[in-house]
Amino acid sequence: MRITQANFVTSSSHHNQCPEDKRPEFAFIGRSNVGKSSLINMLTNHKKLAKVSGKPGKTQLINHFLINDNWFLVDLPGYGWAKVAKTEKEKWGTMIHDYLTLRENLLCTFILIDSRLAPQPIDVEFINWLGQQALPFALIFTKVDKQSKNKTQSSIAKYKKHLLNYWAELPPVLVTSSQSGEGKEDVLHFIDETIAQ
Ligand code: GDP
Repeated sequence: MRITQANFVTSSSHHNQCPEDKRPEFAFIGRSNVGKSSLINMLTNHKKLAKVSGKPGKTQLINHFLINDNWFLVDLPGYGWAKVAKTEKEKWGTMIHDYLTLRENLLCTFILIDSRLAPQPIDVEFINWLGQQALPFALIFTKVDKQSKNKTQSSIAKYKKHLLNYWAELPPVLVTSSQSGEGKEDVLHFIDETIAQ
């Protein structure tokens, strides 16, 4: 797939406000600074479709973009801001929980992981929660240009080993660099295949 059209549709603070249109939908989520906005911009060939590096405490919304007039790309607010107040974290939790569990046309959630880091509790907790809800997801290891291929492979192997403590089956894994464009075709192909299933 080549993305030729990417248009902002709406921002929602509640899953009920999301577009009624039931086109296939793919969501992107991860810890703040993991490279989510950069990845969305890289995939859609835009410089500023998703805003790079939002500030903590800023209103956190579910952002819908219509891609090729065919499917929705959803930019979900990042988690893990240390300085965000507990009430904000709870609001985030309810909004994300409702969206992920109630959005019927959501085909897959991409969880972004910084390829340089050991498994982080906040990510593992989120992965385990999605697994327990039986919601489909895939892992995207980001910023792979920042280290050698060997280091990335070893980091992914560690991650898989860690997840095998909880699960018998592992989710699909993709690797990307928004800097070099690596993994772009793989992510778009994965989306194509998922829509076709
Ligand atoms: P977000 O908070 O998850 O949306 O992360 P951003 O997309 O704003 O990226 C956070 C920082 O990481 C920015 O300084 C980006 O330029 C940088 N960054 C994001 N993706 C990559 C990547 O693939 N390679 C490199 N080298 N830097 C990246």
